[in-house]
Amino acid sequence: MALSQAWNEEAEASGQTQSSVLRDRHADGLFTDDFKQSAYWLDDLAAPPPLPEDLPASAEVVIVGSGYSGLHAALETARGGRETVVLEAKDPGWGCSSRNGGHISSSVKPSLDSLSRRFGSERALAVRGEGTKALDWIEEFVTGEDIACDFRRVGRFHAAHTPAHYDRIARSADRVSREEGIESFTVPRGEQHSELGSDFYFGGVVYPRYASLHPAKYHRGLLDKALAAGVRVVPHCTALSIIPRNDGFEIVTTRGSIRTREIAVATNGYTTGLTPWLQRRVIPIGSYVIATEPLPLDLVERLFPTGRIVADTRRVVYYYGPSPDRRRVVFGGRVSSGETDPKLSGPLLHQELVRIFPALAGTKISHSWNGFVAYTFDEMVHCGCHDGIHYTMGYCGSGVSMASYLGMRMGQRILGRDEGRTAFDDLPFPTRPLYRGKPWFLPAAVAWYRFRDRLEWRRATARDRKSDQTARVP
Ligand SMILES: Cc1cc2nc3c(=O)[nH]c(=O)nc-3n(C[C@H](O)[C@H](O)[C@H](O)COP(=O)(O)OP(=O)(O)OC[C@H]3O[C@@H](n4cnc5c(N)ncnc54)[C@H](O)[C@@H]3O)c2cc1C
Repeated sequence: MALSQAWNEEAEASGQTQSSVLRDRHADGLFTDDFKQSAYWLDDLAAPPPLPEDLPASAEVVIVGSGYSGLHAALETARGGRETVVLEAKDPGWGCSSRNGGHISSSVKPSLDSLSRRFGSERALAVRGEGTKALDWIEEFVTGEDIACDFRRVGRFHAAHTPAHYDRIARSADRVSREEGIESFTVPRGEQHSELGSDFYFGGVVYPRYASLHPAKYHRGLLDKALAAGVRVVPHCTALSIIPRNDGFEIVTTRGSIRTREIAVATNGYTTGLTPWLQRRVIPIGSYVIATEPLPLDLVERLFPTGRIVADTRRVVYYYGPSPDRRRVVFGGRVSSGETDPKLSGPLLHQELVRIFPALAGTKISHSWNGFVAYTFDEMVHCGCHDGIHYTMGYCGSGVSMASYLGMRMGQRILGRDEGRTAFDDLPFPTRPLYRGKPWFLPAAVAWYRFRDRLEWRRATARDRKSDQTARVP
């Protein structure tokens, strides 16, 4: 089954078919006639390779999850000579790895300061350094393996939603450049149009080394490499339980059981009761994206003169940029407190898009979709081995390079290689009392953060207007 077909089925399961979405929203004129409730990235993807769905009785390595984490681990173990099977509940890449925004930053959320307080300055630097390594490594990987996925070091504009945030990110960029060698430059508000055709923000910081790619083409290229290395990917095969045995594990699946010596779990935002210890440590959070209809090239060039990806400083962040062919805007963020349907998030994202770019007011949405990222209680990615089960997850919304890199490292650890070690190893993986994997606290937290973001922006804009008026009084 093609990925886009699986997505349609998902929409139907939620009680809404694409045609009923069209009926509901056509009156608003907001959706194109060929609107899809699936990722824009799937449109120009070649047909998937045929995969046998039968499950072998055993394998030396079994990996659960076929996103970037799982496939990179599998590629490593297969190339290391281990018979490797990947179990995937849906189609390969069905999770975040075919639906993300394709932005690549240095991926470690906590600042050097905050990490130094927790782990000491040496470990903090090493942890932050893994982010830069992941970014460089993914470039080497796609170039070395010749994967056509539009990888480009376009750079990222980090846009400040208030003057205070501009000051804060400018100071932090300066420090990060001095202490970690991460290149950046500030763009004050008066010069903002050189980066972004918008007056919404109060300046920002450019990180010229950050990159972007086409996430689904990247995943498909990775899948092809894994299959060529001998990895057996079994689609529509949900792992239901993991039973420890004397010589390893038995994994019970919807297609029967498989025995293995080594098991790895790479389920990130789709982690379930299969691994209760991990489920208690990751917080699944929906992220939502739209793509616009094709736009005139000169309009896209005006909005994104440098072609960079953009993320802003709001607590509930918006991330966006031009599509790789520079014909559309791909715009993501979180527009509701609780989880919602892409048919409802689409118009809300569009509203926010128009607030930032009033020139897009009449533009239609051609695609609207969502997926689940995995946050953690300490905002850190975690990888390691618990009760004999290898894992890597918790990328906190920045997993394109990190999931790839840590997946690869996990594969090396399974092979027993020293280079599999990372600065994340053996860090405590916190949970909270009574948390079982359902983030009941999320709607209230998101609502509060969104309220504060809006309030701060409105105040900053009001102050700005006032000072404009004062300046005009003779
Ligand atoms: C809308 C959106 C936008 C994003 N944008 C960005 C971005 O711009 N930049 C960035 O760096 N990151 C982004 N991310 C995050 C990034 O995509 C993820 O961190 C990354 O893809 C995680 O890869 P993964 O392989 O660990 O997990 P996934 O790709 O989610 O794969 C997990 C797989 O496990 C399978 N699975 C789960 N349970 C079982 C089971 N029991 N049996 C079998 N299979 C199972 C699932 O079906 C799924 O396919 C975004 C995510 C989303 C949802």
